[in-house]
Amino acid sequence: MKLKKDVIVIGAGAAGMMCAIEAGKRGRSVVLLDHARKLAEKIRISGGGRCNFTNRYTAPENFLSHNPHFCRSALARFTPQHFIALVERHGIHYHEKKLGQLFCDDSSQQIIDLLRHECDAAGVEWQMPNRVNNTSRTHAAAAPGGRFMLETERGILTADSLVIATGGLSIPQIGASSFGYRIAEQFGITVTPRRPGLVPLTFMPEQFAGLSTLSGVAVDAAVSCNGASFRENLLLTHRGLSGPAILQVSSYWQPGAPIHINLLPDIDAAAWLLDYRHSTVLLSNLLTQYLPRRFAHAWCEAIMPGQPARPVKQYGEIRLKQIATQLHNWQITPNGTAGYKKAEVTLGGIDTRELSSRTMEARKVPGLYFIGEVVDVTGHLGGFNFQWAWASGYAAGQCV
Ligand SMILES: Cc1cc2nc3c(=O)[nH]c(=O)nc-3n(C[C@H](O)[C@H](O)[C@H](O)COP(=O)(O)OP(=O)(O)OC[C@H]3O[C@@H](n4cnc5c(N)ncnc54)[C@H](O)[C@@H]3O)c2cc1C
Repeated sequence: MKLKKDVIVIGAGAAGMMCAIEAGKRGRSVVLLDHARKLAEKIRISGGGRCNFTNRYTAPENFLSHNPHFCRSALARFTPQHFIALVERHGIHYHEKKLGQLFCDDSSQQIIDLLRHECDAAGVEWQMPNRVNNTSRTHAAAAPGGRFMLETERGILTADSLVIATGGLSIPQIGASSFGYRIAEQFGITVTPRRPGLVPLTFMPEQFAGLSTLSGVAVDAAVSCNGASFRENLLLTHRGLSGPAILQVSSYWQPGAPIHINLLPDIDAAAWLLDYRHSTVLLSNLLTQYLPRRFAHAWCEAIMPGQPARPVKQYGEIRLKQIATQLHNWQITPNGTAGYKKAEVTLGGIDTRELSSRTMEARKVPGLYFIGEVVDVTGHLGGFNFQWAWASGYAAGQCV
């Protein structure tokens, strides 16, 4: 079978569907191809099954990229309000959980259904599952069918515009692949180094000995790394640390660097401990005024290994001040991350210098576009990654 369309979109995830909708609405003939059997599995599992579909306060500062300005243009032209309007038009009830994060009241399936219906209304043709075996650029004179030719399991596809929306490497078990990066390399487009982001951090067993028994315990803390700081919960797990504050800093963490944890961000720990300098209460028990009981005991053991907690009055002022410093700046050095199996996103990707920030078209290869997570633009936790997928998909959809 041979099929000619105006636009081929590879990857029917968040960005791919948005691009296909917009191109279809402009009267372009669009085929949307995905190798997965089930549509948009990543949207389905997102936000704990309720899809944190955008963030009201989206700003360029919420994104990591080698060029922090690249995302501005697309984000300005398709804002959270635009997506909220779409959600409301489809009668989907939603709520703000915290910090501008918007979630479906019921299920992330509602967002998938919304996108599927919009694609159908825009006349988008679906091809899934389908696999691309070969991609090539043709020359107009030799191949009047279009600038790109794809050899797929279902036959030959040709089009003038080819959109790569195949996402990042995280969660390979539901269809993530390196396809987008390989296409970029095939066309001589630079790809920046990739690593897992929004990912739990792991520690050497001996460093984490007492703490690993606290799996499930959460602590409100301010966690910093490489100049970025986030105030949210951190969560202890069997292998290390997770929870929103850790996931956020993980995107800034580089191997070998410590992370800094302020366990008492709201008080002056030195003044507080010194108020108790004559007290007979055990230090670990005093800490439970602000920290979960099991954590307070394990933390004392972790910073003073082999020394059972003593009454506060036995520490002396100098030692109490040192302990206060550790409470405000507990430094631990991860030995790694939990990897792409657990990461929510992939940092790095198609080098933004290769793309037009207005259209997402590759500068060197007219007609070739990259959108969504495959691009070197990665959001913080909290609905920003979907907002980037919608915005970059929309931007390309106006031009393909
Ligand atoms: C567990 C989890 C929870 C998340 N929760 C949130 C959240 O609540 N809010 C938020 O903003 N972000 C969240 N994210 C991040 C968000 O899901 C992604 O950033 C977003 O889906 C990226 O959109 P995309 O369209 O670029 O890629 P994807 O949505 O990943 O879509 C890529 C598509 O390409 C297809 N594909 C891949 N390779 C090929 C190939 N070779 N041939 C054909 N098709 C291919 C895949 O099957 C997939 O359908 C979460 C991520 C994870 C893993």
